[in-house]
Amino acid sequence: MTPDIDRITTLTRELLVALGEDPEREGLVKTPDRVAKAMAFLTSGYRTSMSDVINQAIFTQTTNSMVIVKDIELYSLCEHHMLPFFGRCHIGYIPTGKVFGVSKLARLVDMYARRLQLQERLTEQISEAIMDAIDARGVGVMIEAKHLCMMMRGVEKQNSLMVTSSVVGTFRESQATREEFLALVGHRAT
Ligand SMILES: [Zn+2]
Repeated sequence: MTPDIDRITTLTRELLVALGEDPEREGLVKTPDRVAKAMAFLTSGYRTSMSDVINQAIFTQTTNSMVIVKDIELYSLCEHHMLPFFGRCHIGYIPTGKVFGVSKLARLVDMYARRLQLQERLTEQISEAIMDAIDARGVGVMIEAKHLCMMMRGVEKQNSLMVTSSVVGTFRESQATREEFLALVGHRAT
C-alpha cells in the first residue's frame, strides 16, 4: 500500500513533542515532512516487484561456472528499532542457462533491504528470489552488516559486524561448492 505521508508527518510532529522538543523551532519545522518522505523511500521495497527489478535483464548464457558479485552496498532498517543496519552483500550463483544483468542484483538487494528487516530474513529472501528468478543450480548469499541499534546504544561491541549467510541448491548440498563461494567472496573466518 502507498504510505500515508500526511499521517506520518502528523505522527512525527507528535513524536517530537513527546520527546520534549519544540516542533515549531526553526530547525524542526520541516522535519516531520522530511521524515515522512524518507520513511516512504526507505520502505519502498514493499512496493517494488520482482518484475520491476528484473525488467527483462535476464540473459541466456550457457555457462555452468559460478558467478560472483561482491561488495554490493546494502542499507536497511532493523524491524526491532527502525534504526539502520548497513554493510555489504556478496552473491554467488551457478546458472542453468540464465544469468542476471549485474546491476539487477544490486536492485534486487535494494528491493528487500528497503523494508523493515531482520538481517537473517533479508539474506534468505535474496537467495530464494535469485533461485526462483533464474532457476539456478544453487545460490549463496552472505551479508556483513553493522547495526546502529547495537552500536549507538552501546549494547554490544561498537564495531561488531554481524555476518549471515544463506545457501540453497548445490551451495547447500555440496561442501566444495560452498567452500569455493566462501573463498571467492574472501570471507575472513574471524
Ligand atoms: Zn535493532
